[in-house]
Amino acid sequence: YNPENHIYVIFGASGDLTKRKLVPALYALFVQKMLPEKFVLLGVSRSDFSDDEFRNRMKEAIIKYKEIDDESQIDKFVKKLFYTPISFDDEIHYKNLLNKIKSLREEFGTNGNTIFYLSTPPNVYGIIPQRLTSVGLNKQDDGWKRLIIEKPFGYDLESAIKLKDLLLKDWTEEQIYRIDHYLGKETVQNLLVTRFSNGIFEPLWNRNYIHHIEITSAESIGVEKRGGYYESSGALRDMVQNHLLQVVGLTAMEPPSSLEASAIRNEILKVFQSLRPFKKDEIKNNTIRGQYTSSKIKGEVVKGYRQEEGVNPESQTETYAALKFYIDNWRWGGVPFYIRTGKRLPTRVTEVVIHFKETPHFLFAKHQMNNSCNMLIIRIQPDEGILLKFGMKTPGAGFEVQNVNMDFHYSDLTNQRIPPAYERLLHDTMKGDSTLFARTDEVLEAWKFLTPVLECWKNDKNVPLLGYPAGTWGPEHADDLIEGDGRHWHYPCKNLADDGV
Ligand code: NAP
Repeated sequence: YNPENHIYVIFGASGDLTKRKLVPALYALFVQKMLPEKFVLLGVSRSDFSDDEFRNRMKEAIIKYKEIDDESQIDKFVKKLFYTPISFDDEIHYKNLLNKIKSLREEFGTNGNTIFYLSTPPNVYGIIPQRLTSVGLNKQDDGWKRLIIEKPFGYDLESAIKLKDLLLKDWTEEQIYRIDHYLGKETVQNLLVTRFSNGIFEPLWNRNYIHHIEITSAESIGVEKRGGYYESSGALRDMVQNHLLQVVGLTAMEPPSSLEASAIRNEILKVFQSLRPFKKDEIKNNTIRGQYTSSKIKGEVVKGYRQEEGVNPESQTETYAALKFYIDNWRWGGVPFYIRTGKRLPTRVTEVVIHFKETPHFLFAKHQMNNSCNMLIIRIQPDEGILLKFGMKTPGAGFEVQNVNMDFHYSDLTNQRIPPAYERLLHDTMKGDSTLFARTDEVLEAWKFLTPVLECWKNDKNVPLLGYPAGTWGPEHADDLIEGDGRHWHYPCKNLADDGV
């Protein structure tokens, strides 16, 4: 159904995220008639644009970062766009903003419903909600008010608690939507459907049948133009604390009692609360951090991280992180989880690999060799789908076993468009559905789990930062993390670097 009429205010409207993701997603919703009848988008940033200049920028962005194959309605859509410059901590400017919002409400009949999307650097996440409160824009007596924030939700446990205190001072948890765009991906949501709509997977989904679980999120690109941001973040903060732990949550959670946001988020929270805390002396053996170095890929030289724009030539920031950990509950007791993420790996892929236990008795000689290959691979991106690997009889004499695949690709569902993550999430914020957004307690539990690792990596020389040539699957030592348990990482493709390991 269509959301109620409202005004969508984007702070940071001159920035990269607004043009690449937010406005193209809003346009796609407009084309699909999923926006309310009365809808206005108000862009806000420090830069000085007129409404028309902003509209032209957004028009170009919609064409360039096309989310939907229909440009015929762009002119109609951009008439709904307005812009107002603002200094983010100046109270007078918020009075002007309030007046602008009031006049747009009157002109377009959108009533008091308003969304504030903070697509700004995190250092202004505290001040904007405070200033909005000072002019009464958090009050819901004339319609709902919602606040959307982008990761990072803090830098470590302490800063995440500070941010929580700032936000929850004048806004309620129900008003706040923390975007984790991984949760907007169709295939991440499909983890829930695969697990809980089929009778065949769930009975096996536990310590009795699963040997270990592997989650990989690999990027083939480097830090591109975001070196400055990445320097203060690194792989653990940028990918593990949010995206990968959310995938762990959906993979490991108990069945929720309903599809209500609170029911699903409660189960994810329980998984995070059950993560076995790392003891200081375990971090050395159970975590790996790496940084890509220059290499040659197909004859072309690729920069190392320390040579990237905005990066300290002696940077200690990790571009690769791998962790082994346990979830201490009845379902997962004793099952290791291995997660890894990195930049400049050989391909772009995100997948969950469920490795099933071996049969209790080896009937077939060859089977014994390949038996560890019973895997269910849930591919989150690209080529979204599900692959089941199992043993089959090789035709001919005897009983030779070979591994075969049952492979489902989302692309086989012809004529069905997979909505991009931001499109789904923006629409949910308009409908007031917070199921796919991280709740404060989840965020804090995730930081509680990872902060000791961050501190150890920062202070402890025992966990060295290991180099890996761009285009390879990370530091060689990452293999030890899993091979020590007699298993291997699932490699979707080979190393690319000519001088790769
Ligand atoms: P960006 O390109 O740097 O844009 C930031 C925006 O905030 C600009 O419009 C800037 O506009 C405004 N701004 C306000 N106060 C600022 C300040 N003190 N310093 C610098 N800019 C300030 O950033 P972005 O890539 O759009 O990212 C926005 C937020 O989304 C960040 O929190 C980022 O971590 C998060 N995020 C981005 C992506 C992505 O793909 N880009 C993905 C995930 C999360 P004026 O200078 O005109 O004020």
